[in-house]
Order: sequence, then C-alpha cells, then structure tokens
Amino acid sequence: MTSSFTDLDSSATTPVSERVLAAMLPWFRERYANPGSPSPAGELAKNAVYEARAEIAKFLGAEPREILFTSGGTESNQTAIRSGLRARPGRRKILVSAIEHSSILGLVPDLIRQGAEILVIPSRSDGRIDPGEVSRLIDHETALVAVMWVNNETGAINPVREIGEIAHSAGALFHCDGVAAAGKIPVDVGTVGADLLSLSGHKIHGPKGTGVLFARHGENFYPLMPGSQERKRRGGTENVPGIVGLGEAARESGEFLALGAKTMERLRDRLEEGVFSLCPEARRNGPGPREFRAPHIANLRFPGTPGEKILIDLVREGIYLSMGSACASGSMEPSHVLLSMGLSREEALSSLRFSLGRGTVPGEIERTLSALSRILGRKPERRVS
Ligand code: PMP
Repeated sequence: MTSSFTDLDSSATTPVSERVLAAMLPWFRERYANPGSPSPAGELAKNAVYEARAEIAKFLGAEPREILFTSGGTESNQTAIRSGLRARPGRRKILVSAIEHSSILGLVPDLIRQGAEILVIPSRSDGRIDPGEVSRLIDHETALVAVMWVNNETGAINPVREIGEIAHSAGALFHCDGVAAAGKIPVDVGTVGADLLSLSGHKIHGPKGTGVLFARHGENFYPLMPGSQERKRRGGTENVPGIVGLGEAARESGEFLALGAKTMERLRDRLEEGVFSLCPEARRNGPGPREFRAPHIANLRFPGTPGEKILIDLVREGIYLSMGSACASGSMEPSHVLLSMGLSREEALSSLRFSLGRGTVPGEIERTLSALSRILGRKPERRVS
C-alpha cells in the first residue's frame, strides 16, 4: 500500500491488510447469518468462527477451547484481571507492573474499592521488570500477577517465563498482556506459562474492536459479560467478520515473523544509528541488548528539546509518530512508563516513540532522518553505513 505519509506510529494501530479485508468482506453481506441460528447459513458462520479460533489457537500454541473472542486488548485485559482475582477466593492481592498499559492500571481504583490490595512492581531503569521484585512482593495472599510481555512504549521484552514461574510457585495466576508482543516476537502460551493472555486485532493488521483472551483450560473463569456465546464466557452475538479477520491476521502475522521481523529490526537499528549520528546526545529509553528488545520500537530522548516540538514538526512533514501510548497523547502528560524507569518529567517529555510497521520501507527511515536533520538543524556527525 502506498501512502502520502510515513507511519512510524504502528504501535498505536495498523491498517487492515489486503488479505484480512478480503477474508472479512463476505461475512458482512452475503454470509451475514448469526452463528447461533439453526440454518445452513448459521452453520457456515459458526464454522468460520470455529476456524478462526483454531487459527488463533495455533498462533498462540493453545487449544481452541482456551480462546475467547473479545472487543479488543482492553476488554481482554480487564476480563483477565477481574476473573483472575475471583479465581483465587480468599486471596486479595494483585501484583501489577508499573509499566502496564492504562487498560490495566486504570482498573486499579475500582479494584481497591472492591477490597483488593494492589502492589505495584517497580520497573528497572531499562524498562524491564525484575523477577526478583516479583519474588519480593509475592506471598500466599496473591491472587494474580500481571506483567506485560513487550512494553508498547519502549519495546522492552520482559522475562515473563521466570515471572510466571514465580507466580505459580506462590499459587497465583499469571496474566500477560501480549498486545505489543504479538506479530513482533513469537508468542507462545506454553513458553511463557501464562494462565491468561491478551491480544488486540488492530495491532496486527486485523480490525479494530477485535481481541483475544487466552484463558487456560482447567482454571475457573468468570465472564465480564455473561451470556450464552463463547461457551458461556462472553455474551453477545459473535462479531463474525471481525473474528474471521482476526484469524487471518494471526495467520499472516505468523508468516511475517518467519520472514520479515529481521528486516524490521534492521530498519529500526538504522533509524537509531541515524539519530545518534545527527544528535550524539540523544539517548535510548529501554534496554540495550537486542535480545531484550522487540524489533519495532525505538523510544528516543532528545535532551533539551521538547519532544512535542519535534513531533509537531515531523507531523508537518508527513511523518506520524507519538510521544508514548496513543491513549495518553494529547494530554502532554509525561509517560508513566518513562517516569517509572526513573526519568525526570523533563526527560520523559523530551522523548519520542518511533514504532515501525510491517510496511515500513528503508526510504521512509531516510526521509525521517532528513526531516530530523532539518528540524534539529544538525548534520550527521559521522558517516553511517
Ligand atoms: N495493551 C497494550 C500493551 C496496548 O498497547 C493496547 C493498545 N494501545 C492495549 C492493551 C489495548 O488494546 P485495544 O486498543 O485493542 O483495546
């Protein structure tokens, strides 16, 4: 797809791919039946949902009965936290990392009102969560531990397998927000040992308003919206086109992981290298070693220059990105993720998140670097390959 702008904000959202759109279209009109209706057309829709569920299960290394379709990452996260708390009666503590998405942190006041005790797992200065901190905070009153796989602002990859083991050894459930990880690194529920895991359709070139919650078979599950659909785990007529699109998006994401993720990482590295060459005082917010970084995000700090100013100038040049999570932008409040890593308000506000997508091409990175050179009034300090 060619576009008149450069999208370096793919952590905010991604376009529906051609394949996803083609898979979805028939289910809006020709095949509009309710999967619950006792007719051949209903049967067809039911089969389509069945196949999409099988596809997602394969993508996550799960069983189809463990896959629940939702309206997005937010609903999946909130269902997971509320259900997880109830699944461990007699336990009232929840451990959440300081770098979780607002769809989890925003739930905290309500959980406290309901009698839960929330303990916040601090972030290391590189934006990763230290399993040692989880061990320090967990006890036999802990119902649930929630730590995201990849942070959506810094791209930091958390040691989720270790954290899951710590949760389980205390008898707690482990919830993992896999929204920013899916399609960028292999996401397998067996590897991570998660009991609950969330995905969002629109971050993997699927439709907005679609999501997945993996809920491990054998654990008690409490729906957010009771009803007869989804094996009584989520009420409401199935969003058949959305679900079909999500299944196709997962299939395509699996293929991309095998073929394209390395290219994306190289482009991300070229962007960073170019920025550091233009602006040697710039710093990366997040881990250094590549094994701790998802391939699509570079969160960079431009000391002494307000990020907002650079952002506005870049947007004027047709280059779209954001200062942190899209949900928080517009408010110009510093990112809670960067603050929790120990950055000052000023440092956080001089930071920008560049997030590459599957469609990002080398020319767009060069265009961004030329624009930055003009905006910052700098020339590359040294020749870069
Ligand atoms: N978790 C993370 C890490 C996210 O980045 C987002 C979206 N910004 C969500 C959850 C929420 O997903 P959705 O937009 O599908 O509700």
